[in-house]
Amino acid sequence: MKYEYSKGSLDKGDGLYFQNMTGADVTERLKKNDIIIIPVGSTEYHGKGQVYGEDGFLVSRMAEIVARETGCTISQPIWFGSHPYNQLGMPGTIVVPENTFVDYLRAVIAGYWNAGFRKQILLNGHGQEYVIPNAIQEFGKITQVPAVLAFVNWPTVIVPFLKDKEHNPESTFDTPFRHADEVEASYAIALFPELNKKHQMEDTKREIKGFLSEGHVDKGGDIYQAPIPGHAQMGLGGLEVHFYPEGVIGKPTLAEGIKAEPGLDFLFDYMIRLHNEILEKFPPGVLPDAKDVTELDQATVDALLKGPFNGGRSLYSHRYPI
Ligand SMILES: [Zn+2]
Repeated sequence: MKYEYSKGSLDKGDGLYFQNMTGADVTERLKKNDIIIIPVGSTEYHGKGQVYGEDGFLVSRMAEIVARETGCTISQPIWFGSHPYNQLGMPGTIVVPENTFVDYLRAVIAGYWNAGFRKQILLNGHGQEYVIPNAIQEFGKITQVPAVLAFVNWPTVIVPFLKDKEHNPESTFDTPFRHADEVEASYAIALFPELNKKHQMEDTKREIKGFLSEGHVDKGGDIYQAPIPGHAQMGLGGLEVHFYPEGVIGKPTLAEGIKAEPGLDFLFDYMIRLHNEILEKFPPGVLPDAKDVTELDQATVDALLKGPFNGGRSLYSHRYPI
């Protein structure tokens, strides 16, 4: 791989995670770089050979590589997420109701904004791409303050790399991307080999198919652009707990870390480009001009941007709850 893998920084004092930094560290960081990546994962059964926190580890390790290359900051991951209907009931899959999840994410966005990280990349590691953008929209509508908030769903960035060989002859994968399968397990093995147990992985026994013919409903990450996104339906396939009790949909036994490398290179190139372009356009402390992006009066915006430590006031004095 073009980039060096991360050995894991969740409990390290290496300046990557906000929660592992002191007040003085953050004050210095904000002068140089005020972008924060928020990894959004889930706690979910990933079969016998993969960890329950796979989605959160995927995006936190990805964020660690980007932060190391660029100097931005990372939030400790969101470990509990939203789940599509077909995942209900699987033991070990912890389902947060959509409204609670969006409220929580919006509060996290608000807290980081108030801390000075007003450019945020929400990096999603789980099939909850239908929910996260709501948190961004609600934050914007409730507060109307200038901010740069971007949702990045990692599979969307690298669609061609995730397709099976039948749909992309240059792909490294034999089977299509789905939950805990050959593709996801390969990314997990590449990014955190120490947490995967290849000898315990087992494939789905049942034939994988929905109730209608192929081509209506998309698969993992919506990489085939089928008319109906995978999570935009219910009743067109069986519950995982009934159909795929192995906790995987596909063949994780085919997983190899090396298969993920071309996609990871492309993903990191993109994320670094996104980071750099945001920081170039809006250097530390600079945001889109209030007159372009809000109808709030300039005095209110100025006071909120200054914050309580610099002669202004907090975001919470403007609106609560956020
Ligand atoms: Zn997963």
